[in-house]
Amino acid sequence: MNRKTALASAVAAALTLGTVMVASAQSPALASGTTASGAGFRATTEAGRAADLDRAAKDAGALAKTLGLGPDERLVAKDVLVDNDGARHVRYDRTYRGLPVVGGDLVVHYAKNGKTTSTTWAHEGAIKVAGVTPKLSGQDAKATAERSAKHVKQARTTSLDSSQLVVWAVGKVPVLAYRSTVTGSGEAGAASREAVLVDAGSGAVLDQYELEQTIGGTGNGVNVGQVSIETSQGGSGYTLTDALHGSTVVYDSYNSPQSNPAQNARTFSKSSNSWGNGSTSSRESAAVDASYGLAKTWDFYKNTFNRSGIRNDGRGAPAYVHVDNQLLNAFYDDSCFCMSFGDGSSQNGNIPLTALDVSGHEMSHGVTAATANLNYSGESGGLNEATSDIFGTMVEFYAGNSTDPGDYYIGEKLNMGNGYLRRMDNPAADGSSLSCYSSRAGQVDVHYSSGIANHFFYLTAEGTGAKTIGGLPHNGTPCNGDSFGGIGKDKAAAIWYRALTTYMTSTTNYSSARTATLQAAADLYGANSQERYIVSKAWAAVSIGTALPDPGTGNPSPSPSPTSSPTGNPNPGGNALVNGGFEQGATGWTQSANDITNSTQQQAHGGSWYAWMMGYGSTASETLSQNNVAVPSTGSPKLTFWLKVTTQESGSTAYDTLKVSANGQTLATYSNANASAGYVQKTVDLSAFRGQTVNLQFTGQEDAYLSTIFLIDDVNVG
Ligand SMILES: [Zn+2]
Repeated sequence: MNRKTALASAVAAALTLGTVMVASAQSPALASGTTASGAGFRATTEAGRAADLDRAAKDAGALAKTLGLGPDERLVAKDVLVDNDGARHVRYDRTYRGLPVVGGDLVVHYAKNGKTTSTTWAHEGAIKVAGVTPKLSGQDAKATAERSAKHVKQARTTSLDSSQLVVWAVGKVPVLAYRSTVTGSGEAGAASREAVLVDAGSGAVLDQYELEQTIGGTGNGVNVGQVSIETSQGGSGYTLTDALHGSTVVYDSYNSPQSNPAQNARTFSKSSNSWGNGSTSSRESAAVDASYGLAKTWDFYKNTFNRSGIRNDGRGAPAYVHVDNQLLNAFYDDSCFCMSFGDGSSQNGNIPLTALDVSGHEMSHGVTAATANLNYSGESGGLNEATSDIFGTMVEFYAGNSTDPGDYYIGEKLNMGNGYLRRMDNPAADGSSLSCYSSRAGQVDVHYSSGIANHFFYLTAEGTGAKTIGGLPHNGTPCNGDSFGGIGKDKAAAIWYRALTTYMTSTTNYSSARTATLQAAADLYGANSQERYIVSKAWAAVSIGTALPDPGTGNPSPSPSPTSSPTGNPNPGGNALVNGGFEQGATGWTQSANDITNSTQQQAHGGSWYAWMMGYGSTASETLSQNNVAVPSTGSPKLTFWLKVTTQESGSTAYDTLKVSANGQTLATYSNANASAGYVQKTVDLSAFRGQTVNLQFTGQEDAYLSTIFLIDDVNVG
């Protein structure tokens, strides 16, 4: 197990953010050939998912220790995805002394045999803040939030607005912070809400973002035409309850404020089962659009990725149409697990915002919240928006509705001035979106920085050059002048979905999104696949990274080869120890913690297993021992083992120690002062125990500050 991963990394380098750890040795692709069924994931049942989450919750305590989290941290199981081959990806959120940790999420990857293969961190390592008593008062935090809001005008806090203490671990150094909500006029209407994170010590604004995840401040036309929808019959008539799709209910919000769309909401019910008239003169028409769009989105996720609803739990989210007045927007709000659709405004001829790609876009915000939960600001915010555009587009293709055929435009059914909201093939054509990565990507509105990932997705799916798709002109124009063909939208979507759900976290940025998709492509199609190669070409074409070598030219990327042969026991005939190289796991050994590991976070000396002792950076001790070790009765018996010491300490003073003892008698002591770049063989004389049967023990001890890791392998007594 890869305990203390955090501190190990802290020894090697400063804390890194948004890291995706990629397994260096690729397992065989999960889906071979031309399909990417389920994006490599098994279908799940409600009961199966509940059992998986239960197991993840039960594992959380031991796992936290294994990962090297501090005593004030707890892991909260959030999501479990199981690959076709049985490998599992378990997503956790973190708390610190009971406070939510923003940026504390992580995904632990288990091979099918249950062993941990790697961990994807939003914020790598243990989290520690000076205390959880804020210097700044909640009132002062709210006042700062009101003063600093930039997404809403005339920001104020209302009685409904929360101000909550959190640990903000998005930055390099985690701090105690207030997350305040302010309300004012903004893109989501007159009562738009914005979250502002304020440092609870210094009062500095750390982050701010819109709370409703919108389609983008402009509108969407409607009209899916004549379609069939699922309704329910009860009592004297019918309601818009879709029992086939998680009992999704579409309500008439009755112009409730967008901050509380349920306030005046009513159920649609009537005696006949015929709904709407294709125009806004019937309040039911927009509801038909929403019901249809949400059902198609549900079916897309179910039939394409084996995902059952937004949270993969079979439950539908309520949807509200006719929200607010003159609302030229639609949005998903995770706090109510609900979707809201405005009626449009005079700006777009009062066409309700219930088109297919809008429904797909908003429901996909829910999927993102339930998985990677990409922070809705900076580069991660752009990736969040792009994910909704990508899957909104895929829903449009999936539905195959002749009134609204699939294309890579967003909101083309809007009655907008330039004919669309966004274009994935050429994002910059709208005058605001970014087509190519630049260092300012994290500073622009998330609906504009999304352009980079939208462009990547288009180029991956369709390649470069001009095409007509869904009756609209498209032209994939790479930023680097490259030219290549795409792998098709289904494969591109499978790669994005697998990356989102398995290898992205709340702090994923563009660079780590590239890594995540390359890993997902390797999982699905193989490390040397054309698909993975094209993914790398498409990222390079939006100015992120360089393309991998072309696997088709006989110049494949070098495949990882074993760097050392298993030498668990270099001298099997002469070792009085059982399993001295740890290649049989814990067999023969007694350990106070799960020190014996094959984690790829550190290297074994021989084989793949080794003992990882200490690395807490706080007062701790551990033991690793073997009983009934028969010390040879002739010659000069000795204990040999390979030791690698890495430390945050400096100087020659022994702060953190590793002692070797036989029958309780200390024979040798090593410490942070013995730090070395690689393994060094150590020899301990056992002549005093000649012919005896002893208990051999390693004892690690750390003081209160700075960590030292002792790696032990290939232990021999002979
Ligand atoms: Zn959005």
